[in-house]
Amino acid sequence: MAVNVAAECGRGRAVFVWQQGADSSASEQEASSIHRGNKPFGVSEHMAFQVLAISDSMATQVREKLASPQYGHPAHVEVATGTGPCRSCLRTFEVGQEERILFTYNPFEGLDAYPSPGPVFVHRTACEPFRGEGFPETLKSLPLTLEAYGDDRWILDRVRVTDGKVDEPIEMLLAKSEVRYVHVRHTEAGCFIAQVNRVGS
Ligand SMILES: [Zn+2]
Repeated sequence: MAVNVAAECGRGRAVFVWQQGADSSASEQEASSIHRGNKPFGVSEHMAFQVLAISDSMATQVREKLASPQYGHPAHVEVATGTGPCRSCLRTFEVGQEERILFTYNPFEGLDAYPSPGPVFVHRTACEPFRGEGFPETLKSLPLTLEAYGDDRWILDRVRVTDGKVDEPIEMLLAKSEVRYVHVRHTEAGCFIAQVNRVGS
């Protein structure tokens, strides 16, 4: 049966049960050991990080042209049937209330030549882009997967979070000197949500 990826990406309210697998447990243990013991030189216990939404110009172009700025594919407008979230303000959608735009987005533009285009949403009308510190509270209710990338966008570690306690695993991933950035994805839909950088990087 074909899976409608776009619909999946908006299906934030569906019941999701994630069972911690051996891989992730190993990752968390490894990350924990690094956090506690093998701390890289110059890395503090509480790694400051910044969550980046898509660029303001990307959101503006999508709203004006109703097409993917990176690919030209037509965008789709609908009243939210799922919680999303919006990749600009990083708030979940009010189902049945707010209009949103679905478009194709490559989150690796400017990071690596190897793209991974996928569907994402933004509010149909201009919203207030996320500029906050720390991890947005508005995303903590979602099942999240943190993917830590090194050079050549190679995945070095992956941690799944279902209880909203996302700060510590992000800090542990970024404490690894070989990790360049972390991507946050929706565990159920697989879609890119936001990027996390070390502050100052
Ligand atoms: Zn928004």
